[in-house]
Parts: sequence; structure tokens; C-alpha cells
Amino acid sequence: MTDLPRGNWTGSYLSDLASDSDHFKLHFLRGEEDLVIQTAKKIAAAGHGLRLGHIPWINGVSKMKMHCPYQRLPDILLYIEESVCACASLGFVGTAGSTIAESIELMRKSDAFRKDNRVMLSRKELFKNTLRKAAHAWKRIIELRLSEEEARKLRFFVDEPAFTDLHWGMFVPAIKGQGTEEQQQKWLPLAYKIQIIGCYAQTELGHGSNVQGLETTATFDPETDEFVIHSPTLTSSKWWPGGLGKVSTHAVVYARLITDGQEHGVHGFIVQLRSLDDHMPLPGITVGDIGMKFGSGAYNTMDNGVLRFDHVRIPRNQMLMRVMQVTREGKCVQSNVPRQLIYGTMVYVRQTIVSDASSALSRAVCIATRYSTVRRQFGSQEGGVETQVIDYKTQQNRLFPLLASAYAFRFVGEWLKWLYMDVTQRLQANDFSTLPEAHACTAGLKSLTTSATADAIEECRKLCGGHGYLSSSGLPELFAVYVPACTYEGDNVVLLLQVARFLMKTVSQLGSGKKPVGTTAYMARAEDLLQCHCSFKRVPILSFFLLDLLLHCCYCTMSTEDWLKPSVLLEVFEARAVRMCVARAQSLSKFPNPEEGFAELSADLVEAAIAHCQLIVFPRKGVKQQLQNLCNIYALNLLHKHLGDFLSTGCITPKQSSLANDQLRSLYSQVRPNAIALVDAFNYTDHYLGSVLGRYDGNVYPKLYEEAWKDPLNDSIVPDGYHEYVRPLLKQQHRNARL
Ligand SMILES: Cc1cc2nc3c(=O)[nH]c(=O)nc-3n(C[C@H](O)[C@H](O)[C@H](O)COP(=O)(O)OP(=O)(O)OC[C@H]3O[C@@H](n4cnc5c(N)ncnc54)[C@H](O)[C@@H]3O)c2cc1C
Repeated sequence: MTDLPRGNWTGSYLSDLASDSDHFKLHFLRGEEDLVIQTAKKIAAAGHGLRLGHIPWINGVSKMKMHCPYQRLPDILLYIEESVCACASLGFVGTAGSTIAESIELMRKSDAFRKDNRVMLSRKELFKNTLRKAAHAWKRIIELRLSEEEARKLRFFVDEPAFTDLHWGMFVPAIKGQGTEEQQQKWLPLAYKIQIIGCYAQTELGHGSNVQGLETTATFDPETDEFVIHSPTLTSSKWWPGGLGKVSTHAVVYARLITDGQEHGVHGFIVQLRSLDDHMPLPGITVGDIGMKFGSGAYNTMDNGVLRFDHVRIPRNQMLMRVMQVTREGKCVQSNVPRQLIYGTMVYVRQTIVSDASSALSRAVCIATRYSTVRRQFGSQEGGVETQVIDYKTQQNRLFPLLASAYAFRFVGEWLKWLYMDVTQRLQANDFSTLPEAHACTAGLKSLTTSATADAIEECRKLCGGHGYLSSSGLPELFAVYVPACTYEGDNVVLLLQVARFLMKTVSQLGSGKKPVGTTAYMARAEDLLQCHCSFKRVPILSFFLLDLLLHCCYCTMSTEDWLKPSVLLEVFEARAVRMCVARAQSLSKFPNPEEGFAELSADLVEAAIAHCQLIVFPRKGVKQQLQNLCNIYALNLLHKHLGDFLSTGCITPKQSSLANDQLRSLYSQVRPNAIALVDAFNYTDHYLGSVLGRYDGNVYPKLYEEAWKDPLNDSIVPDGYHEYVRPLLKQQHRNARL
């Protein structure tokens, strides 16, 4: 588990673990041990590290002697198997010996990637540092000839929001998704080689969620075969795009297309903003940074920008014309490429957001779990050791569901990758049948996972008590960096409303013979799910108007063990989602005007959408045995949290809810011994975690103490300002105090 000498463990959680052999097995592997040699050979045989051209250590390893006592091997193998199995399926970092793992190690050693001083830097220094890191990372990506996915991983470990996020994450996908073949051929090579740097300029001062309300105009001038991009009002100023403020040379700008005096909706245009020679804004362009944002360090490494156009001219072929083209004469022509194609890009972007949610959450949980093992409070009897705070049920009740969510989000992120591939293949074959469902599903999951992660990071901070509030815990900055994910790429509530709209449509089509697909397939069993599965007599339903009658049926779970059956949990969650959706549809149908009804019931509709999305995350098949406990914790904790929904829709009885709670408590006890291994399996380096509390060696207190002295305020014993402001005050009080 660690390469640090045992002497360093005094007072650390590792020494606690080592002394608690009932619950933990620690295995110490050295380079010369047989297992390591065999693994090294396997890694070499698989070609890891070959990109570098050589594997310097492999000859040395193979010559080493075997010291490992045979009787320890089964245990070691078991441990390795468990953690490798977890790591491999999670895939948070590259395999040991891979180019990514080496790069991450290099980052830790290199001063260029230093992170610990981030909150102390001024905005200008902070920003320059980000530029330096991005440049170093790019150099490494080129040297190692990394693939797109490998490069993404490497940038991820730089761990600092930067213009490159938008360049690779939005600008390139926008051109890929919305540009014609020729446009892609022209612009993508420039972008791939960073000969231009792009951003995604959609949001304006006056409008974000309501894209149709954007005011920037792109008017076609047939005389010159150009578009004139213009910001007619203050509120039409582009506002927020990342990378725009100081770095981007180009942007995909969204504007209202006007030809021949007629409007044709909002479209994307590639606009050059700055000179490629001296970086000065081009004529007619006003551009700058929008100012400091939430938190210290955090997202302030990013140059979110403001941009105004004063009749800026661009060639006609810089409108992204994959789905609609403007001819030389200024006619708008729909291309034969279906409009729905652009939704593929959205699925891609949201899939990466869900993966990022799981990473941010696992990071916070790793810190809070490790620290909860180190921290001891109360409970000491007759001078014995105090209780580790992780052993308090309240701590487990707050922490373990978050650990379970980190795993659940990771799996759903992996599943979304598959969904994206599936959608892409179908779109290429002109099959749009699953697109609305995929769109609703990714919108819902983006909303669900980012909201849960933001809340969870804050909960982890509280789980670390007072020390969690220190910057050196890594949690305040992690929260500040992460929390805008709830807003960008679609405000979370606005997205849930889109999901609700889709669900209401699905429910309204239930009797029509049109089968719900994908994640809504369970709704095809609405009739079953609205009924009781035990003593209740089946009532055939065709219409949800019978709901009142059916809502009183419950699912039968007779014992706490029943709550461990995936089939029971899944069905209860399906029943809750169906019943909530059907009930909302029933309420909606009472309004003469559906839009009015939708507006009036929107808060309830959002709850139904959440119920549906929680069901998507709910892991189904193929969950490895050792993760089953987490899966059950995830589900039972949600059940407990949303008990009102389950009781009011008649899915379970109060008695059953109490059995579920008993089961949840017992699951916490089962997870407790494995909690550290489960967060270690995320395989985060100390450098990446950036947290004194979450250190791998658990050596928290000396490091906290050391860290405090590094604060610039401690550079001098008597602070600047004492002689001007404090001393006169003290002296004056001496003479004049009347209290
Ligand atoms: C850190 C950060 C980075 C960003 N990066 C970019 C970028 O690179 N490019 C870019 O173009 N934009 C970017 N944005 C902008 C972002 O996409 C928008 O802020 C986001 O889409 C939300 O829009 P808004 O700000 O207009 O919020 P609003 O829509 O004004 O939301 C305000 C409130 O109104 C509610 N609301 C809005 N509409 C409805 C409705 N119909 N029903 C019920 N409630 C509603 C919302 O839930 C919210 O509570 C970024 C924003 C942030 C914070």
C-alpha cells in the first residue's frame, strides 16, 4: 500500500491499519519480489512504456532474486486482484509503467506543475502559471505522441482549468459536429496543432439558457459574400466563454442569421478575434476578461471573457454549414445532413462532464475517508486511544453514500461512453430513433451527477471538521472549481425540465403502441409497476386515471435481507419513477393549456425527472461482488433520502422503510473495513489530490503544522501594518480607555 518506511507511520492511519489485523491486511511489495517481477514482465510484454523507446528498469528487475515467502502470495494476490480489479475498471490513471503514469510522476516532480501555492498567487501570477502549465503539458503531449484520449488524461492531471479545456472540449467538437467536410479539413488541422486557439462563444450578458434569445447578429452581405457580425446592444455582449478573455485567437460565435432581411435562427460562425502575429484584437473587436470569480485560485485560472463586435466581416464559408447552408446569393438551404446530427456533439460533451463529476467526487471522498481514519475524537476509556471518527455511524451515514456515488457515477460515465458510440453509429446510419431518449438521458445525468458532486464536496469539507476549511485540505478550492459545473453546459434545473418534458411525452404515448426505448424501457411495464406485487389483485389498466386506486399498492419486502436483492431495489425505484411520472401526467392533463400546466407544475416535474435519472444511475447487471455493498448503499441511501416519494406513491410501507434503514446501517459496517482500500483504488497521487488531510501516508498533523508556517503572513513575526495601525491603537487605549 505504501512505499514509505514503517517509521514514518507513527500517528498515521497506516500504523492503525497495521495494528488492526482483524480488519485489514497490509501487504508490502518490494521491487525484488516475485510478484513484482512477474507483473513487470507482463507489463513489458504488453508493450507498456514502449512509446518511450526503452524500458530502463526491466533488465534490472528480471535479474533480481525472489525473496517473497510463498505462503504470503495468496494473500498478496488477493489484495492485488481486488485493488487492480477496482482500479482497472475505474481507469482513473494509466497502468503503472504506462506513458500517462510516467507523465503524472513527472508532473509531481516538476516545479512547473506546482499547485500548493495557487491560492496565494495574484490573479496575474495565477494566470501566467496556468499558461506555463498548459505549454509544458502540450510539449509533453507532442514528445510522447499521445493519442487524443491519452492527451485528455494528461491535461486532466494538470488539474487546472485552462483555455485548453474549451479549445479541446468545445471549439474542436463544435467544428467536428457542425462544420462541413471542407470546413473540418481547413480548421481542424490548425486546431489540432494549436496553430489557432479557439473558444465557444454562445452565452451573452442578457441570455444563457435561452439560446433563442441571443442578440448577436450575423447579416449576410451578398455584395461582398461576407457575414457582418455585430453586437447591437450591451446585453448582446458575449459573456462567460472560457479562454476568450486573454488567449483565444478564434471563436465559434453563435449569432442570429439574417439573410435578405429575414431571420433564420441561431447558428455558429468561426470568427478570428486576435492577430496571429501580435495577439492584438482585430478591428471592430472589443475583448477582455470578465473578472474574478468565486474562491481563491480555483476557476480564476481561466480567462472567462467578454466580447463585442462592431460590424466585423467574415467570409461566408466561415458559417458552420453542416446542416444549413447559405448560398452565394444569400439563400438558406437545408443540407441533406439531418439537423439531429449536432446533438451527437452534445451527448459527447455531457458524457465527459459526467466522467469529470465522478473524478471530482472520488477525489473529495478520498480526502474525507483517509482523514476520517486519522482523526480521533472522544471515546477514550481509561487513557486508551480515542475513537477514529470514521467509526461513528453518523460519519459513515454521511460518508459512505458519497463513496458509493463516486463509484456509481464512474460506472454510469463509462456507460455513457458506450451510449455516445451507439448514438454516433446510429446517426451515421440515419437512425434517429434513440436520439430524443439519449438526449434526455445525458441532460438528466449531467444535472444529477454535477449537483450531487457539488453538494458532496461541501459535505466532505464538513466531514473533515475545522481542518476541512483550510485551503491546505484541498477541499475549498475543489468546491470552488467544481461548483460552476451545475451551471455551465446547461443550468441543471433547466436540463431537468427538458427531461420532464420528454418523460411526459413518453407517458402520453404509453397506450399508443409506441414502445419506450433505452433508459425509459421500464415504462413499457407501467401497468405492472403501478400495481401491487404481493397480496394485491391485479387490475388491468390502460389509462393512468386509475392511478388513485393503484397508488395504494406496495411492494413486498419481508426482511432486511430482501433489500439486498438488486431485483427488489430496481423494481421499487422503477415503480417510484413510473408512479411519479404518471401522477404528474395526470395532473398536467387537468390543465386546458398544457404549457400553462407545465409552468405551474414545474417544481413537481423536476422531482419526477430526478426520480427517473436516479434510476438510470442505479447499477444493474455485472456489478462485481466487492462493489455490491456500495451499490446497495447507493440505492438504499437514496430511498431513505427520498422516503417521502416512495411512501406517497405507495411503493413501500413505513415498516419496509424501517427494514431498509436497518439494512443500510448493517451495510455501513460491512464497508467500513474496506473504506480505505476503496478510496486507494482511485489511485490518486498526493500531488493530484493536493490535500494535507488526504495524504496517502496519513501523516496529517505534522504536515498541517508545517504548512501553516509557509503562509506569507508568517514571513515576519511582527506583521506589516502593526506600526501604522495596531501599535497606535494600543497606545491610545492605554491613555484613554474608559471601560
Ligand atoms: C464557470 C463558467 C464557465 C462558462 N463557460 C462558458 C463558455 O465557455 N461558453 C459559453 O457560451 N458560456 C459559458 N458559460 C455560461 C453558461 O453556459 C451559462 O451561464 C448557463 O447556460 C446558464 O445560463 P444563464 O447564466 O443565462 O442562467 P439563467 O438561465 O439566467 O439562470 C438563472 C436562474 O433562472 C433559472 N431558470 C432559467 N430558465 C428557467 C426556466 N425555463 N424554468 C425555470 N427556471 C429557469 C435557472 O435555473 C437559474 O436558477 C459559463 C458559465 C460559467 C459559470
